[in-house]
Amino acid sequence: MSKRDYYEVLGVSRTATAVEIKKAYRRLAMKYHPDRNEGDAEAEQRFKEVKEAYEVLSDEQKRAAYDQFGHAGVNTGAGGGPGGGAGAGFGASFSDIFGDVFGDIFGGGRGTHRAYRGSDMQYNLEISLEEAVKGTTVKIRVPTQSVCEVCGGTGAKPGTSPRTCPTCGGVGQVRMQQGFFIAQQTCPTCHGQGTVVEDPCPACRGHGRVRDHKTLSVKVPPGVDTGDRIRLAGEGEMGEKGGPPGDLYVQIRVKEHPIFKREDANLRCEMPIPITTAALGGELEVPTLDGKVKLKIPAGTQTGKVFRVRGRGVAPVRGGPPGDLLCQVVVETPVNLNEEQKELFEKLAESLGKGGSRHSPNSSSWLDRVKGFFKEMGL
Ligand SMILES: [Zn+2]
Ligand SMILES: [Zn+2]
Repeated sequence: MSKRDYYEVLGVSRTATAVEIKKAYRRLAMKYHPDRNEGDAEAEQRFKEVKEAYEVLSDEQKRAAYDQFGHAGVNTGAGGGPGGGAGAGFGASFSDIFGDVFGDIFGGGRGTHRAYRGSDMQYNLEISLEEAVKGTTVKIRVPTQSVCEVCGGTGAKPGTSPRTCPTCGGVGQVRMQQGFFIAQQTCPTCHGQGTVVEDPCPACRGHGRVRDHKTLSVKVPPGVDTGDRIRLAGEGEMGEKGGPPGDLYVQIRVKEHPIFKREDANLRCEMPIPITTAALGGELEVPTLDGKVKLKIPAGTQTGKVFRVRGRGVAPVRGGPPGDLLCQVVVETPVNLNEEQKELFEKLAESLGKGGSRHSPNSSSWLDRVKGFFKEMGL
């Protein structure tokens, strides 16, 4: 079957404006919509045709391609090529298909008939680095709602009961006529409940629910880090009309630690060492999250040197081997020297000076580079 010209399908001229095209589509889509032509195969075919034509002609790029190359220029058709989208199923609801054109009419009335799942909630939990690494159990207090004990959840004053909504007769929905369409909407009187409370319960003011708090025990697994979330299924907000509750997400934030910084599975710390230890070498005690370890500092250690203590990092929560502890050396220059110390340093300086670059290879090579730099600049 050869395809009809899209302009012909919509009954518009080749110079039609976007508004004219939309208008034509709207008129024809109403006419042939399957909801209004049940069991009419020809109408269904026409509807598909109209929809396909509109999809191409309403898109500036596709329309230009169609104008130039015809059907070959646009990848739609019976086969429903990628991006063609000609086959939006008829299972799709009225408002899904017409959403773009009639969004305003149908905007409020979608899916009001079902029970609502409660919202998810988030709780921000701050824990220490030690707790994050080793895991912990934390009790948290979260706001919740519970069924009002005074009215048993009906929202009606004790001794009275809610009565059937006079507007919708208890259905919770009303039908509204909008031109050709009949739209279902949530009943404005009872908001979909089907009942109205005339004498509201004083304890919950007719809501049937009251604010409350609950205490939950949160198991924080070892290895979590800032940004991880723990999901407590069903601990979120209560559902409406018998719907299931939402979930509670516990968002982890690890507090700063005075010594260690977390870098994924590794822990890093800065370790100031005396200039004498750096020069002569020695042994240092380094803290880890489970006690001290001894670290050998070789003679001639420079600032910035990183010592790795294997396996003293963090075992990641998602599995894998534990990381390492990385200790970065910062050589400390002594301050507040007394006369004797100054003298000793002066002697030391003199002695080191005689040795030249042997004792300070970094400074010597740096000075050489500076000289070369100035030479190139012509200074
Ligand atoms: Zn109540
Ligand atoms: Zn109602």
